Amino acid sequence: MVDGSDSVDAVGAVSCTNYRRASRVYLPGRVCSEPGCETVLSIYNPEDRCSRHAIVAGSTRRRRNRSLPKAS
Ligand SMILES: [Zn+2]
Repeated sequence: MVDGSDSVDAVGAVSCTNYRRASRVYLPGRVCSEPGCETVLSIYNPEDRCSRHAIVAGSTRRRRNRSLPKAS
């Protein structure tokens, strides 16, 4: 009865969900996709860009929003 091929897939979802998440890494040696930026990304960084150029969802702050007192 215990075949071990088809039934494993359904039962296997009970455990080791945590383990899978932790082991999710990306290719080492990736570089920020921003032109001119050569920052090497962490293997844990899911983004294509470094922290400086990463587009943060939720906080859409514009640098231009500040009105500069002095216009050079
Ligand atoms: Zn960058």
